[in-house]
Amino acid sequence: MKVFKSKDSGRLISALPTAFKKYDAVIEDFTHDEDGYWLYPVYGFYNSCPGSHIIHEDTMKEVLAALKDVKPCNCKECEANK
Ligand SMILES: [Zn+2]
Repeated sequence: MKVFKSKDSGRLISALPTAFKKYDAVIEDFTHDEDGYWLYPVYGFYNSCPGSHIIHEDTMKEVLAALKDVKPCNCKECEANK
C-alpha cells in the first residue's frame, strides 16, 4: 500500500484485508474513524461517483464495492499530481 501520509485524523488501516489486496496499486490511503471508512485512491483514479476522489462508506464491504468501480481519471488535479 502506498501510504504517504494520513489525510485525516482517523486510524490508518495498514494491514489490508485480503479482498482489498488486488486493488493495492490504486489505494493511497485508507483510514477509519467514528464516521466510517475513508479510502483515497491514488491520483489518476476516481470514485465512480462523479468528480469524487474519496470513497466514504459505513462498512468495509461497501468500500470494497465502491473500489471495484474506481475508474482512471484525467482531471486537472490528477494530472498535476501524478
Ligand atoms: Zn482526478
